[in-house]
Amino acid sequence: MANREVEKAQHAHPEGETLFEKIINKEIPAEFVYEDEQCVVFHDVNPQAPTHLLVVPRKPIPQLSKADDGDQDLLGHLLITARNVALGKGFDRTGFRLVINDGRHGAQSVYHLHVHILAGRQMKWPPG
Ligand code: C5P
Repeated sequence: MANREVEKAQHAHPEGETLFEKIINKEIPAEFVYEDEQCVVFHDVNPQAPTHLLVVPRKPIPQLSKADDGDQDLLGHLLITARNVALGKGFDRTGFRLVINDGRHGAQSVYHLHVHILAGRQMKWPPG
């Protein structure tokens, strides 16, 4: 399953409206756990851990490397939101992992910036 994501990422590229914009606009269903004026958090449809959430800014920044310096507050907000969600679920007790994939070698498959929150099992390193 994980390899399929990497395979998908080989052919993915920045496009117009992404799936995530449709999810943010509630045109495609997703299991939301949090939302505010800057971002939404929902369950990944293909979880790679017992808990796998995505923190997605409403602003359609295609990838971290395309963010502007002016996005500093928004980028900080994504991390604080990930921290708050993780604390709310008690993951500060057991640990958790945040991931941002960028571009082809980063195995990014959806070109709308997102922070993965992975938790509920022992993670490995290196990530592969
Ligand atoms: O970082 P990357 O771009 O590879 O991550 C995209 C993520 O979006 C994948 O984990 C995939 O399972 C998830 N996804 C989703 N809902 C969709 C399409 C993709 O949660 N409708």
